[in-house]
Amino acid sequence: MKAPNKSGWKPEMNAAEDGMHEGPATATGNRALMLEEPLIFEIGHAQTSGVDLPAIDRSGPDRLGGMARTEPIGLPGLSEPETIRHYTRLSRQNYAIDLGLFPLGSCTMKHNPRLNEKVARMPGFADVHPLQPVSTVRGALEVINELAFWLIELTGMHGVAMSPKAGAHGELCGILCIRAALEARGDAREVILVPESAHGTNPATAAFAGYRVENIPANADGRVDLEALKARLGPDVAAVMITNPNTCGLFERDMKAISDAVHAAGGFVYCDGANFNAIVGKVRPGDLGVDAMHINLHKTFSTPHGGGGPGSGPVVLSEALSPYGPLPFTARTADGVVHLVEEENAAAFEHTQAFGRMTAFHGQMGMFTRALAYILSHGADGLKQVAEDAVLNANYILRSLDDLLEAPFGHSGPCMHEALFGDKGFGEGLSTLDLAKSLIDEGYHPMTMYFPLVVHGAMLIEPTETESKAGLDQFIAALRSVAERAKSGDARMKRAPYYAPRRRLDETQAARKPVLAWQEPDSAR
Ligand SMILES: *Cc1c(COP(=O)(O)O)cnc(C)c1O
Repeated sequence: MKAPNKSGWKPEMNAAEDGMHEGPATATGNRALMLEEPLIFEIGHAQTSGVDLPAIDRSGPDRLGGMARTEPIGLPGLSEPETIRHYTRLSRQNYAIDLGLFPLGSCTMKHNPRLNEKVARMPGFADVHPLQPVSTVRGALEVINELAFWLIELTGMHGVAMSPKAGAHGELCGILCIRAALEARGDAREVILVPESAHGTNPATAAFAGYRVENIPANADGRVDLEALKARLGPDVAAVMITNPNTCGLFERDMKAISDAVHAAGGFVYCDGANFNAIVGKVRPGDLGVDAMHINLHKTFSTPHGGGGPGSGPVVLSEALSPYGPLPFTARTADGVVHLVEEENAAAFEHTQAFGRMTAFHGQMGMFTRALAYILSHGADGLKQVAEDAVLNANYILRSLDDLLEAPFGHSGPCMHEALFGDKGFGEGLSTLDLAKSLIDEGYHPMTMYFPLVVHGAMLIEPTETESKAGLDQFIAALRSVAERAKSGDARMKRAPYYAPRRRLDETQAARKPVLAWQEPDSAR
């Protein structure tokens, strides 16, 4: 039986009442074996506990400096089986990459191979502590150094900063390297150029580092307008930040010419490498003149993210920027030993110009282990195939839908690892949001919506190399069905999803007035 609902939440109109299917509303609010679940505050009691602890002995000296709590904390308590059921029921309402396709463009939601998990859980890796003496963590340092080697090798760069903990953190690291290099030559530049299609983290990073952000225009093909960029370059431009492949899912073919022009004007080239999975093993950013690029290990190299684990954003650096890279880092000496380079031994490793540090310790060890396992288990041929299959899958989606959905850059040739559509031709009053909500009813997590900003009602779909042809065909059939409904003006889409545990939520209200703390309803007092 459903627990009494004290929060005042009422089950919304059942799909049957909306004419979607024939089934009656259920008395419990449960749907088949999917169980409705109230908040833990609604079912638990401060007096209940699942554990039996001895009373606190307060006879000893006060070691809390008089700060001991005098009132009960008021957290709800449940018995052990009730607790387990509560969280298991909630977990069943999650969508996950282990359940199905996660088409979020730009996010690269690929399968997390279990081999990586197994390696990361080996006690020698899982149990290390960052404050252990270096002599006791030689194996862990070897892993960091080995991964660093392969990241440099795959990108054709000169050095790498392993410590940044996300893509955006890596961007900041790269831009701080650029600032340090400019300051070292006494060159105060104020502007960073960023294309309009850029991920929001790019302009945010540049602004956070104290630069003024100016937009670079795109051409009709969705790529950087080289001539407009050249015209803007000058002694005030510190760097350009370019995503390649870009956020429209297109390869920036002029990248080398862009880099040459920026370098000729005394600036640096930051490449947002979040989309490296589309070119890994095929193109080396170092050959394209890139000075700094972050690599999202949680995207390209499959480490779990989006609720499944922390990010990790190592930054590869050119020869010009490497001297400014942050501490700490690892280095192998001629005797084969991998050392940890910190402030105290930086001079011995001729690294005296570090701009500082990004984190307290060495980075995301668990993700380094997983990423290295992914790289080594794929090998050179396997990584190349990762890029090829990711691109093939995205083009299959693009060409299976471009007769039905607007493909704004479909005319300019194949896409890279993601397919981009717009909302042109949708029926009166229907939007990308309505299509995405309808896709939930079909059993799919929605794609990335309204990004990049340069396409109206954008839908960015990234299947990754993980998906089989059968899986893609099923997804395409679902997407065609909702696209057809959107184009025919099916007004029922405005109320989707019909079959989710909660119906359409008021997202504006949730964003503007988030209710983050549960309050005991008056009636219960
Ligand atoms: C994911 C992403 C980022 C940011 O990476 P995080 O690890 O989420 O901080 C930056 N740029 C692009 C293009 C991305 O897709």
